[in-house]
This record gives sequence, C-alpha cells and structure tokens, in this order.
Amino acid sequence: MGADKRLPRTRLPAGARIDTLAVREGLPPSQWGENSEALFLTSSFVHPDAATAAARFANEEEAFVYSRFSNPTVTMMERRLAALEGSEACIGTSSGMAAILLLVMGTLKSGDHVICSQSVFGSTIRLFQDFAKFGVDTTFVSQTDVDAWRGAVRPGTRLLFAETPSNPLTEVCDIAALADIAHRTGALLCVDNCFCSPALQQPIRFGADVVMHSGTKFLDGQGRVIAGALCGSDAFVNDKLVPVMRSAGMSLSPFNAWVVLKGLETLSIRVRTQSQRALEMAHWLESQPQVERVYHPSMPSHPQHALAMAQQSGQGGSVVSFVVKGGREAAFAVIDATRVCSITANLGDVKTTITHPSSTSHGRLTEPQRVAAGIVQGMIRLAVGLEDVEDLKTDLARGLSQIHA
Ligand SMILES: *Cc1c(COP(=O)(O)O)cnc(C)c1O
Repeated sequence: MGADKRLPRTRLPAGARIDTLAVREGLPPSQWGENSEALFLTSSFVHPDAATAAARFANEEEAFVYSRFSNPTVTMMERRLAALEGSEACIGTSSGMAAILLLVMGTLKSGDHVICSQSVFGSTIRLFQDFAKFGVDTTFVSQTDVDAWRGAVRPGTRLLFAETPSNPLTEVCDIAALADIAHRTGALLCVDNCFCSPALQQPIRFGADVVMHSGTKFLDGQGRVIAGALCGSDAFVNDKLVPVMRSAGMSLSPFNAWVVLKGLETLSIRVRTQSQRALEMAHWLESQPQVERVYHPSMPSHPQHALAMAQQSGQGGSVVSFVVKGGREAAFAVIDATRVCSITANLGDVKTTITHPSSTSHGRLTEPQRVAAGIVQGMIRLAVGLEDVEDLKTDLARGLSQIHA
C-alpha cells in the first residue's frame, strides 16, 4: 500500500505528550472543520467509482468500506487508545468479553494452552473454561506467585493472561516477570488493564504484548456504554485480529466508540482523582473500629505495595475493599444504610459504587473457594467516584455506627 493510500493522520507535532494525545489523537476533521469529533452513524461508505471500490475491497487502498470492518469514529477511538497505551495499534470490540473472544480466535488453535490468573474477572474465567470444548485448555494459577506461572508452562503454552490489580482484593501481579516467562516459551502476554487504565499503568512498557480493555469501565467513565478493545503491535492487530473481526463481527458500534472517545479526553484527571480519593477513604476506613482490614495498593500494609507503586505510576487505583466485623449481616447493614453510593457491581464510574463481593461478583464460588481466595462475608468493595470524600465517609459511617466494634 503506497503512503498516499493510507488513512491520513491527525496533524500533531512529533513527540506530543500523553495528555495532548488524549484530547487530540484521532483522524483529521471532515471538510466541515468540526472541533469535536464527529459521530459517523453509517453502516456503509460510498466510493467515487467502481475501480476505487475494487481497490478498497482488495485492501490496496485503506479506506472505510463497511462498519463491521471499520468506521471513522471507531478508528478515532482506536488511535487515541493506542496512543495512551503506547501501542502501535488498537482494535475496538463490542464489549470487553468480545475482546477476549477476538484474542483467542485470532491467536489460538486446538491443542494450544493458556495460563490465566485465578483472580481475573469472573466471566473471563468462564470464557476460558468454555474454550476447552474447542481444544484450548487453560490452567489457572495464583495471581501473585510467579513460580506457579512458570511451573504451569508446557510445550503448547501460547498465551498468558493476567489482570492487575485484581477485584476485589487488589492483588498485583508482576507484569515484567510474566512477560519474561511468556517470551521464553514463545507465548504472548495479555494484560486486562481495566482497573488502572493507561492513565496509571501501561502494560506494554513492562513487556506485555497485548493490552485488553473493557471500555465499559474507566474509558467511558460515566457508566453509559458497553465497549472493549485490544492494543498491540501493527502486525499483530492487522494480521491476526482484523481478519477475524471482518468475518466474525464483534464490532464496536460507532455510537459507543464516540462515547468512549470523548471519555478518553478526561481519563487521566478522573482516574488520578478517583485513585487519590480512594486512598483517602482507605486511610479513614482503617481508623474505624468496626473495620477489620482494608485492601488498597497505596497502603504500605498491602502485600505488593512496592510493586504496585512501580507499575501504577505511584497510584493505588479507585477500588478499595474492606472487611467489617460481624460478617454478612454487618456488611449488608453498611451497604443498605448508604444514600449516596450506588449498590452495583460495576466500577470505573464517576458515581461511587458499593457491592458485597461474596453474594454478587463472587456468588458462584463455594464458601470454601471464597474463603481460600480471601473473599469473606464481611467484605465490602467500594469503587470510588468523584463525589466529595466527606460525603462518602458520612455515607459509610451511617451503617458502620450500627456495628458493635
Ligand atoms: C467488566 C470487566 C470485563 C468485561 O467487560 P465487558 O465490557 O463487561 O464485557 C473484563 N475485565 C474486567 C476487569 C472487567 O471489570
């Protein structure tokens, strides 16, 4: 493909920094000169003549053809997210789970083996288990035990999959160490970067090959749409993923892409502020007599505190979990007494959410499995948003005051 047959780039000075790329990277504006990115709600694109159509279908000219393959609004989101992750390329998907489906369809075949953290998102575990019926087996290992990852490697291992920090315990895995294990055996390392987002953590800098996103969380940031993405090298995205997307069609809708695109403009200030407020909540919770234990990577008491600070730009993230005295009954009382927090298992929203992991996100595990994982009945997970921290403290204090310390 000649240089003039490629889609144009946004005109930005070389070396523009991340905060600039977050609001500027994309495609040049249309002939109308819009300042805010346009939403291209169109399923297909019109060609000037039959010969051009033929060149575009044959991939001799990069152009928009059909929105299952690509769409200008989706391309803007992909370029912007790639810039933030420090990857060459990105492909948007209809959901975070669709991104994992695309990753597996594009890279694995029957007989291949996956090593996955046992602390990843529940649907991720179920999806990897489902691939067994196509001959792709997955071994689940401890999030933090590098030797367990190394020990699980076998001749067919082609993919290592991690999510850091984990939900709800905020366990942190060592991305560079996992990348090393993957590369020694010729496998790829994919990191689900949902909890930190590129505002705090860029897994590719630590050696990951692929970054997976649920755009539903921080990238949108206001709880509006379902979206996903995979970031990686140009060759990986264009050779392995784009052909699957074209035929299988787990495509991101232009509307959802537009919402995420605009969300990326404020990602850094949201995530950093939410992370700082979560730390303030963590310190406050630790000083409450009714609270037994607090989990947040910024606390020196966190088992992987130093690693988290090195990997996550010195930030702990917006999720803070804590255990109240009195088990499930006390946890429910705290949750039910809130008037500001939303009782929902979603996260990454500017509205603070509160949830009881053992009866919701981790409700399908048996009680012994939960206890082994450290997800006890008295645990509450808070995903801190942008409300005033004093109002959040008052919201939790209302229920905490009912517990006998
Ligand atoms: C929500 C979530 C997903 C799945 O994303 P969807 O957009 O809901 O499909 C994957 N991983 C993590 C860590 C999540 O929080």
